[in-house]
Amino acid sequence: MKKRLAILGSTGSIGTQALGVVDAHPDLFTVEILSAHSNGKLLVEQSLKYRPNAVVVTDEQQYEQVKKELDHTDIKVFGGARALCDVVQWDTVDLVLAAIVGIAGLHSTLAAIDAGKQVAIANKETLVVAGSLVMQKAREKNVLPLPVDSEHSALFQCLVGERPDTVEKVILTASGGPFLGKKPNFLVNVKKDHALQHPNWAMGAKITIDSATLMNKGLEMIEAKWLFDLQNEQIDVVIHPQSIVHSLVQFRDGSLKAQMGLPDMKLPIQYALAFPQRLENDFKRFDFRDYGKLTFEQPDYKTFRNLSLARDAMYKGGNATCVLNAANEVVVQAFLQNKVGFLEMNDIIEQALGDIAFMENPSLEELEQTDAETRKFTEGLVKKSQLYS
Ligand code: NAD
Ligand code: MG
Repeated sequence: MKKRLAILGSTGSIGTQALGVVDAHPDLFTVEILSAHSNGKLLVEQSLKYRPNAVVVTDEQQYEQVKKELDHTDIKVFGGARALCDVVQWDTVDLVLAAIVGIAGLHSTLAAIDAGKQVAIANKETLVVAGSLVMQKAREKNVLPLPVDSEHSALFQCLVGERPDTVEKVILTASGGPFLGKKPNFLVNVKKDHALQHPNWAMGAKITIDSATLMNKGLEMIEAKWLFDLQNEQIDVVIHPQSIVHSLVQFRDGSLKAQMGLPDMKLPIQYALAFPQRLENDFKRFDFRDYGKLTFEQPDYKTFRNLSLARDAMYKGGNATCVLNAANEVVVQAFLQNKVGFLEMNDIIEQALGDIAFMENPSLEELEQTDAETRKFTEGLVKKSQLYS
């Protein structure tokens, strides 16, 4: 029987690549649900090609247009974020790919787990904000969340067949982004066009900026903590500019296992969608002759302060990672609109972490309050930037 997929965020970088995996394996997958926020045009194109049972348009302004254009089909069209939580629970869905960007993906992921669906999680912000609650629900419902993020897919693949208590630590690799080796006197003048040029990966705008500031690796430390039930001390980061080693696990006998390959998100996406199978594909293969050397170095925590801020928030726990995420989502949007400077993003996140009241064991509602409060506070700081107009 084919696996029936709900692809949330189908118009994004991960979503479109997931549909590429479906194209390559029409015998294994069929598309049951598609969702998008504001790219109604692409959502309509995808719908006409894949003929899902239903589509969800979360941006209400786009809803009418999409509905009109799909009127002549039998595809059901729903509007608004609530609808996402309903459709992922349908009996006709086998696996939910959470590929929405930001905290906007939280409720639908929780709803999918609540219904006992298999979930493949690309949406790291959900785990950063509410990893404890998400994993608790997953345990309750006997769901094993499948990572899509390349580093976490690497760890997952290294851990297959190993006992969790034999893990000494995990080492997440980071490319270092476009500004590897740069110092604050350079970074202070960086603009979005430069920051959006990632050396190894083509991704959505938000994660590309996060990669340039190294916030992405900070978010990934927190993501790894929850996905693999690790202590903070067990999570390390190394800069590996070639992005061939996707991450490593070190076991208690000192043995290291790494997962390697060319940087291509289709691979971890395919692995998660097909799990526990490993499928054939025609993706380009890694060849040692193309790489003179693979290098590793310590991250510059002092210059790339977002990485330190994220690590500190991880140690602090509670709602601190929610504050970190909300402040970061706001400043990244502002940076993409040329409203704050590159280094100002660090300052604003740091102030938010210092200002918003700490909670040790926040409920989902309390996390939502923290998120809203942090956004308001952070937007206030953004407006004080000299670049803001
Ligand atoms: P993207 O911006 O390319 O796509 C985001 C998708 O989410 C789009 O389909 C968009 O319509 C939808 N969306 C945006 N805002 C929404 C909202 N408020 N409500 C509902 N839907 C909304 O992003 P992406 O690069 O595909 O990243 C998606 C997630 O995967 C992110 O959490 C990112 O960190 C993670 N991820 C991405 C990559 C990558 O290579 N792109 C790699 C690892 C992890
Ligand atoms: Mg990653």
